[in-house]
Formats: sequence, structure tokens, C-alpha cells
Amino acid sequence: MKLKDLGEFGLIKRLADDISINDAQVVAGIGDDAAAIKAGGPKLILFTTDSLIENVHFTCSTITPYQIGWKALAVNLSDIAAMGGVPKHGLVSIGLPPQTPVDFVDSFYQGIKDLANKFKVNIVGGDTARSPQLIVNISLLGEVEEEYLALRSGAKAGDKVLVTGDLGGSAAHRLAGKHLPPRPRVEEGRVIVRRLWPTSMIDISDGLASDLRHICESSQVGAKIWSQKIPVSEKTRQMSEQSGKDFLRLALEGGEDYELLFTASPRRLSKLMSEIDVSMTVIGEITDQKGKLLLIDKEGKLHPLESKGYEHFKENRP
Ligand code: ADP
Ligand code: MG
Repeated sequence: MKLKDLGEFGLIKRLADDISINDAQVVAGIGDDAAAIKAGGPKLILFTTDSLIENVHFTCSTITPYQIGWKALAVNLSDIAAMGGVPKHGLVSIGLPPQTPVDFVDSFYQGIKDLANKFKVNIVGGDTARSPQLIVNISLLGEVEEEYLALRSGAKAGDKVLVTGDLGGSAAHRLAGKHLPPRPRVEEGRVIVRRLWPTSMIDISDGLASDLRHICESSQVGAKIWSQKIPVSEKTRQMSEQSGKDFLRLALEGGEDYELLFTASPRRLSKLMSEIDVSMTVIGEITDQKGKLLLIDKEGKLHPLESKGYEHFKENRP
């Protein structure tokens, strides 16, 4: 068997199977957006890492060096946001070909520094090495109060499914040969955990369909989504039309939107949603039909919601 048959998630499952987590300090380990660890203080430590690799995650023709740096940190900030946490300290490891212009590296690193400053993250170390292509890996620590920790695993039948912002923008830009710098929803995540007490949360990196499946699998529930409620901006609609793609497909499967997808009880939402100054939309509901994800179209017809989001080793990004 080859990795391309197993896929990214199959491989992680296989690797994770042999890792027994029996440390009482580990509140959440493999299988969530970040690990959550008890460290003796009043708050939990959040710990996450993500890599960007040239010609895998990006090509230098469609993204500036500054944007590569920005994005490398943004994807990590987004994982801390998905746990309901506040990002704190980062380590930055870079691999670069020797012929890389120093100016390129300066602006690449400026992208990291500017975003770190924006979210008050300290860059406290890292590693530097020669590499055949640009690779950047960032590890990020964050913190969260135990009562506000948001996992993928707590969604209950009857909960509403919500998403922040709008979807499909990143994929629409990609199709047009452009890059849309992600805006990690850290402040929004904090408001959501403090006010709405989400029963589960994840960030949309692979695509709405795929990331909703992660929530359903972790929570052992099902979900139904109304296609007409999925927020898609006018610009994304126009750009997808110009590329001859269905905007709904981009919203469901495009990925890299880095919006937050979460579930919350209808009672809590009806009490507080109107008071909250965060752009968010109810797009569906959690059901007790374990593993069953449905898309309800504008005529009210039900379709199975297939998780065709991005998966490494399977070349499938729209
Ligand atoms: P995200 O998209 O939120 O960054 P991933 O899909 O990359 O999450 O990873 C899913 C889960 O698997 C995470 O909890 C991550 O820490 C874990 N994981 C990914 N790769 C490995 C690995 N090589 N070894 C152990 N855990 C891993
Ligand atoms: Mg994530």
C-alpha cells in the first residue's frame, strides 16, 4: 500500500494508533486542532504546529514572500482560535535554498513578525537549515481557561451549526491565480467561547464538508446543512462564475478559509446571538444519525454531503 491510498487522515490514524496518551496532564491530544495540556497554572496550555512547503502548499508565482510568512503563522493562530484560546509564544523553523535572495527572506520574515505583533505573539526561537525548497514550520503555544476549552467532540443532537464570516473566498482567489491572506479568527473565537459556550469548534482548513465531518466523527453525531444558508460573498460568487466553478462547491470543499465552524445549543443562541458583534451564520443542525451528513438544497431535497476537502497524498483540491 502507498501513502496515496491511505491519505493524510488514514496515515495520521495509523501513526496515532500506537501512541498511548496516559499522561493525566494531557486534556486533548491527537485529533483536535491543538493539544491542551494541564501545566499546574490556572489555565490550560494549548500547543499546535503547522508547516508550509513550497510547491505543496503554495507556489511563489501566486503568493508574495511576505504573504508566505503571514500565512505560516496565521494557520497556527487559527488552530489556537479553534480551541477558544489566546496565542502566546511561537518557534519558527525555516529551510531555504542557498540561492534565495536575502531580500526575499527579509520580507518573508516580516510577514511573520507583523502578524505576531498584531496578536501579541512572541517569537522565542526556531531553527534554520538549508533545504531544496522553502519550508516553514511554526509551533505555537497558547492558553485557555479550562471552562472555555472548545473541543471537536462535544456536539449534541439538536445543536445548531454555525460558521463565522463567509466561505469559498480562498478557493475562488486560488482559481484566479491570486492569494487571499487568511485572517485568523482569534478575537471571534474568544467571544464565541465566552458568550455562546460552543459544544464543539474547529477551524475550516480542509473545507466545510470535511471539517464538519471531523466534528461529527469526534462527537459521534450527524449533521444537516442548508445550502442556501452557507454564507458566500458577492465577490466569491463573481470570481467563481468567472472561473466556471459552482460557488457552493468552493464553499463546501475549497478549504483554507480559516473561519470557525462551531455548534451551540439553540437556547443559548436565541438568548445571546443578537447581542454578539461577530459575523456568524446558522447553517445547519446536529442530528443523532451518527456519521450521516446531509446537504439540503434550495428545493428541500436531501443529498449526502461528501467530504471532498483537501487531503494530503490525494491530489484533490478544487
Ligand atoms: P489541523 O488541520 O487542525 O492543523 P490536522 O488535520 O493537520 O489538523 O491534524 C489532525 C490531528 O492530527 C491534529 O491533532 C494533529 O496534531 C495530529 N497530527 C497530524 N500529524 C501528526 C503526526 N505526524 N503525528 C502525530 N499527530 C499528528
Ligand atoms: Mg485546525
